[in-house]
Amino acid sequence: MTDRYAVVGNPVAHSKSPAIHARFARETGQDMSYVAVFAALDGFEAEVARFRGEGGCGMNVTLPFKHRAFALCNTLSERAAHARAVNTLVLGPDAIRGDNTDGVGLVRDLTVNLGHALEGRRVLLMGAGGASYGVAGPLLDGHPAELVIANRTVSKAVELCEHFRRIHTHAAPLAAAGYEALGGRAFDLVINATSASLVGDMPVLPPTLFAPGAFAYDMVYGRVTPFMAFAVDAGVDCADGLGMLVEQAAESFHVWRGVRPDTQSVIAQLRAS
Ligand code: NAP
Repeated sequence: MTDRYAVVGNPVAHSKSPAIHARFARETGQDMSYVAVFAALDGFEAEVARFRGEGGCGMNVTLPFKHRAFALCNTLSERAAHARAVNTLVLGPDAIRGDNTDGVGLVRDLTVNLGHALEGRRVLLMGAGGASYGVAGPLLDGHPAELVIANRTVSKAVELCEHFRRIHTHAAPLAAAGYEALGGRAFDLVINATSASLVGDMPVLPPTLFAPGAFAYDMVYGRVTPFMAFAVDAGVDCADGLGMLVEQAAESFHVWRGVRPDTQSVIAQLRAS
């Protein structure tokens, strides 16, 4: 029987996940289907229960439900527990297990696909929402020289840093900041994990932000964001979040099926289209 998977979100019609997983399944010979499921804002838990009741094996969870997915799970992977957010559900007969593949997806895109090592580099992560919680741990695991978390609401960046200092013994070079405090600082890698790009906006940043040879990364994909334009104006190489999207999907696929699909061809195909 064909195993059933889905992505649940609101909105979700734009999601590229069904196309990505269909291609992974084809290329690895897995007998599975993958659809998009819309959940009303007050209907996330009911949609998961319905899909599970109909025999669904797993779900990806996207905005705005990653925190509610975290609360829904009976068991969690370590990385989901650290992130306090879940983007991958394994729907078992007796329990729902939660995982978070966003962080490994970002780090694989940065280090493997784009060739930017983290070790010894000064990294700025902008935003302190769900995406930043998902990637902060895996970024720290890459042993950067420092990881600065900047956020519009500084108290949330402080909270994120306190959380990761408690669970990451190697989190010494972790600091919180407001954007106005970044003047005079320079970073080798600047990652935009704010949702400002979705509305054509960006944080106010000093022009001195990028160190020589720096790289800029925006988690949003499918458009040239104001942050990417800012980086290009500064003569800095940049990438959008399409590779992260495909890599986090590949990690979810591996969690569910035990098989690691090739990602390069999928990224290339999505870029071409
Ligand atoms: P979230 O939990 O809603 O957090 C949004 C963050 O953006 C907060 O830190 C917020 O700051 C900040 N922000 C929003 N508007 C801003 C503005 N105009 N100026 C400065 N900061 C602003 O969202 P999320 O789940 O973390 O997702 C963040 C982004 O990452 C989204 O665009 C999402 O699509 C993207 N993402 C991409 C992938 C991928 O695979 N490529 C995966 C996950 C997420 P405050 O705290 O001050 O409100």
